Amino acid sequence: MWKNIDIAVEKTTKLKDKPEADKLGFGRHFTDHMFLMDWNRELGWHQARICPYQPFHMDPAATVLHYGQAIFEGLKAYRGDNGQIYLFRPEDNLERMNRGAVRMSMPRFSVDLVLKGLKALVYLDRDWIPAVNGASLYLRPTMIGVDPYLGLKPADTYTFYIIMSPVGSYYSGGFSPTKIYVCRDYVRAVKGGVGEVKTAGNYAASLLAYDMANKAGYTQVLWLDACERKYVEEVGTSNIFFVLDDTVVTPPLGGSILGGITRDSVINLAQNWGMTVQERPITIDEVLAASRDGRLKEAFATGTAAVISPVGELFCDETSYPINGGAAGPLAERLFAELQAIQYGRGEDPFNWRMRVG
Ligand SMILES: *Cc1c(COP(=O)(O)O)cnc(C)c1O
Repeated sequence: MWKNIDIAVEKTTKLKDKPEADKLGFGRHFTDHMFLMDWNRELGWHQARICPYQPFHMDPAATVLHYGQAIFEGLKAYRGDNGQIYLFRPEDNLERMNRGAVRMSMPRFSVDLVLKGLKALVYLDRDWIPAVNGASLYLRPTMIGVDPYLGLKPADTYTFYIIMSPVGSYYSGGFSPTKIYVCRDYVRAVKGGVGEVKTAGNYAASLLAYDMANKAGYTQVLWLDACERKYVEEVGTSNIFFVLDDTVVTPPLGGSILGGITRDSVINLAQNWGMTVQERPITIDEVLAASRDGRLKEAFATGTAAVISPVGELFCDETSYPINGGAAGPLAERLFAELQAIQYGRGEDPFNWRMRVG
């Protein structure tokens, strides 16, 4: 499928040295090749190509550098036990990116073409996919406006590219819970804004709160809604779930929350296991009251990077609320095991989420 495609391939003449599999970290190393294509008003998307990984030449007036027309995605390629290569729901990432393009006045692209390019790129650089359990190859499709023009308007030229980075297991030290800081001072997104889009500015705007949480000894921020600062929205760059008694609760996608593919997968799996899942507004007060009453059994965050990240403690208004005695809960453990089994090709794939590349 990745053969005989209308995407020009220029291979590098010098392969890079690969980092050691146990020292990968996240997003520090990049593979030998990248995918690129260009857009202008006359030709639309054109010149789809794979070429050696290299820096861009960019005009200092490029619109992305001033007004932030930038959207991106994050997904992974996984190496199965017998060397097979899998992607997880890649079309969902690309369709989400296209929805983001519309919101950011950027051009849409053909999901089929980009998926072809993405698979060809993964296959070409397949030796970079770590064969270590929990490790993977992180893929970063990105689109930016590149006109040299300082007037504020949608750009007339865009670059789309995909770079890839081998990443280590998120849980090399075990499936350990995080400590979360409930942020009252800053907000991430408002309905009607761009919170549901993976656009660069959202992340720049989150860094100060993240710093504050870090200084207080917490790894991530729990965001509340921007209007009333009352409803739970997300945790860092992940969606959030609570288990209240036997019910799984997660905030609804109302425009200010990023619709995670892991979030959707978790909802489907839990429902398939016969659990009650509610997508409904939930206040931080309800969560903290449930913690005091012993009804808050578990909390966990979901996202491509960590898959499932159990929350062991919430810190809100100078008070600490331990969850499940600070340990990972049974549902978080089960979801993590099940999603990994699907992603690494070790288990059944009842929802057809897995896509084989090679
Ligand atoms: C990427 C992201 C998520 C998680 O989405 P996945 O598709 O599950 O990786 C959640 N929240 C924010 C703000 C994100 O950027």
